[in-house]
Amino acid sequence: MSATEDARSAVGGGDPVQQARRRRTFAVISHPDAGKSTLTEALALHARVLSEAGAVHGKAGRRGVVSDWLAMERARGISITSAALQFGYDDCVINLLDTPGHADFSEDTYRVLSAVDSAVMLLDAAKGLEPQTLKLFDVCRHRGIPVITFINKWDRPGRAALELCDELSERIGLSPMPLTWPVGEAGHFRGVLDREAGGFVGYERQAGGAQLAAQQRLSAEQAAAEIGAEWQQAVEESELLSADGADLDIAAFNEASATPVLFGSAVRNFGVGQLLDVLVRLAPQPGPRADVRGKSRPLEAPFSAFVFKVQTGMDPAHRDRVAFARVCSGEFERGMVVTHAATGRPFATKYAQQVFGRQRDTVETAYPGDVVGLVNASALGVGDTLYAGKPAVEFPGMPSFAPEHFAVARTSDPGRAKQFRRGIEQLSQEGVVQVLHSQTRGEGAPVLAAVGPMQFDVATHRMESEFRAPIELERLPYRVVRLVGDESQRPRLQTRTSEVFDRPDGSALAAFTDDIALRSLIRLHPELDLRHVVADAE
Ligand code: GDP
Repeated sequence: MSATEDARSAVGGGDPVQQARRRRTFAVISHPDAGKSTLTEALALHARVLSEAGAVHGKAGRRGVVSDWLAMERARGISITSAALQFGYDDCVINLLDTPGHADFSEDTYRVLSAVDSAVMLLDAAKGLEPQTLKLFDVCRHRGIPVITFINKWDRPGRAALELCDELSERIGLSPMPLTWPVGEAGHFRGVLDREAGGFVGYERQAGGAQLAAQQRLSAEQAAAEIGAEWQQAVEESELLSADGADLDIAAFNEASATPVLFGSAVRNFGVGQLLDVLVRLAPQPGPRADVRGKSRPLEAPFSAFVFKVQTGMDPAHRDRVAFARVCSGEFERGMVVTHAATGRPFATKYAQQVFGRQRDTVETAYPGDVVGLVNASALGVGDTLYAGKPAVEFPGMPSFAPEHFAVARTSDPGRAKQFRRGIEQLSQEGVVQVLHSQTRGEGAPVLAAVGPMQFDVATHRMESEFRAPIELERLPYRVVRLVGDESQRPRLQTRTSEVFDRPDGSALAAFTDDIALRSLIRLHPELDLRHVVADAE
């Protein structure tokens, strides 16, 4: 048994309830460049997975998280897929789910958020809330995911701590509950006041954050004597926060109406240990998940999981397809035969070995909150449920998000019509793009819809390279969508600036060129029953 395997099951044996209690499954949400890759490494370093931060995410050249992680995996022999990083910390098993960095793939990120129990919102101290953070936070709020805020890059000049906290409550209505408070402003960082324990934790500048900081701790009295005015100011600000009701309220955190806030520097490894401690101490453990009928599947029920991500081409030598599933109940054992709820067919998990065989640490067992990568998963699509034994269960499908870009797809080679249909169907199943149909445009002209336009590039590339069915895309001018609540109103929604499409789940989607087009149509027909997309999908 490897070290990671050991950490996975050592405490609590094979009891899913005990094992769930030890799990913390979360994702980092941030705007590109806020420091997500750096923080990921720093977290792994603190958990003693890595011995040296920066060893992978080197200064030379920028690589994506996926390649960073594959390199990390090779170098350290730890259990990493491009979907999740797992490590032991204290008595806990931490699952950090990867989210793509590029804003164009935010639809993938949204789906990952359906598989976590909490999120860490990472902010750049100089920038505060940025557009991508806001979008992702909206998804967290919508799903009721508790959020811990980490204000990063405190080692260099940035905004005032109070101002950043005000921004959280004023712009997104999330009450800040700082657990630490910076001593010395950004750029002249001395350390933090531990608002719960009362003392001072000193920040020591180190070369490139290469080693774990041996952090200096002082009592309040010592800090007052040694640091002076900057300490005094932090104490006064902290008292103001307490008077404002900004002390820790765990119920408010769990309800996602308030957020614990930490200050630190990922690149200097400061505040990262505190973040792990907060995750272990406060973040929710996996709980029973509700099925399509709203009934919760108990943790101790036989194995069940749902697919939140499908990835092809992870192994360039084969056209493989890996489905990443989050375990919801029971114990997963590699080799078990489970049922694919959508088709009722058996699915053998023994093939997990083939791709994970390249890794040193094969997934042998997994518990609620863990992520399992299933190989040869050509039958599995995003949102699908797998379960073992009885009773059968089906979890709700993935919510689909409001697309902002539309294009009609046509095959550029009429002789490849069959491959064209098959390819489009597969892209839809994997969630690469949303595939819509138009009753007026016909079957041969499906409409691709995306949250980010780069999804179209991926679709075009894969249609050509994988299905040998090159496509031409004709962009449509729509930007705003609503679900059609009343089918009989369809004709009123076919206008010069709007159009109705059918979604794979049978619902109808109205697309408008912009907000003005939407508003003027509603003014003309106040009886129109139009609903927001994400809200409805839940
Ligand atoms: P990502 O795009 O969110 O994954 O961001 P990265 O982790 O790649 O970081 C973006 C840039 O910010 C890199 O140049 C990092 O070295 C830098 N960075 C990350 N964390 C810190 C920090 O705490 N302090 C400073 N000064 N720079 C940081």
